[in-house]
Amino acid sequence: MESATIVLTLFASMLGAAIGSFLNVVGWRVPRGESIFSPSSRCTSCGKAIEWFDNIPVISWVILKGKCRSCGAGFSFRYALVELVTALLFAGAMLRNGPDLLFVRDAVFISLLVCAVLTDLDHWIILDTVSIGGTIAGIAFSLVPGGIGLLTSTLTAASAFTLFLIIRIVSTIILKKKAISTTAPEGHEEEEDEFQGGMGWGDIKLAAMIGAFLGPTSTIVALFSAFVAGAVFGVIVLARGRDRSVPVPFGPFMALGAVLALFAGPVIWGLYWQTGKRSK
Ligand SMILES: [Zn+2]
Repeated sequence: MESATIVLTLFASMLGAAIGSFLNVVGWRVPRGESIFSPSSRCTSCGKAIEWFDNIPVISWVILKGKCRSCGAGFSFRYALVELVTALLFAGAMLRNGPDLLFVRDAVFISLLVCAVLTDLDHWIILDTVSIGGTIAGIAFSLVPGGIGLLTSTLTAASAFTLFLIIRIVSTIILKKKAISTTAPEGHEEEEDEFQGGMGWGDIKLAAMIGAFLGPTSTIVALFSAFVAGAVFGVIVLARGRDRSVPVPFGPFMALGAVLALFAGPVIWGLYWQTGKRSK
């Protein structure tokens, strides 16, 4: 590997770690209605401000062994993991594109996906800034040299949105039928509209965002992978005896599929059709 490539990849991973750190803050504060920029990072246990030298992505977590310097309260390993994963994905995007606008596009896409995962895991929401704003960003990035093009981007976003909308409508009808046959418990009638363990509006808008960035082939790979991953997870969870009525957010599976498709979409697509031909 050329030394310039190594330096650029290192730079990309440091940028990714820093943005992962910022996304941790966004994922914690925005759903709680707090400002992203002030106050500075604080320990959620003792409230003491975290000094900059204790706030270096991944490294500080390792040095402090995941504990607050003042009160010793544990910081979830998840914070460091988010920083690490974002760093690795940014490095991958740099290796894939080199230092051009396509790297910026992939970096923005990755950041949006990480943000969607964090808020969906904790709060069951995907911010409109991420899904709708992300769709607009994806369409804008389709215009950069080497991008997928305005028409492709817009049409894929619209198709993915429509597909997920149809899935929602169909599954709502099926679940409603089930609900009637089991009769909802007293006082829970108002929850009927809240979709349990299925496609929420956040997921539908996220599908549009993924479509806008990836274009048709990779979007099919992404969404298909999401359903496969979700199904596998469901089987494992059921086998381990988890309560079936506890819903699992679907956004993280979509993000997983999207990342897979971003880096290997055309390869997976090619493999699928090759295997298909061979089995005939
Ligand atoms: Zn503390």
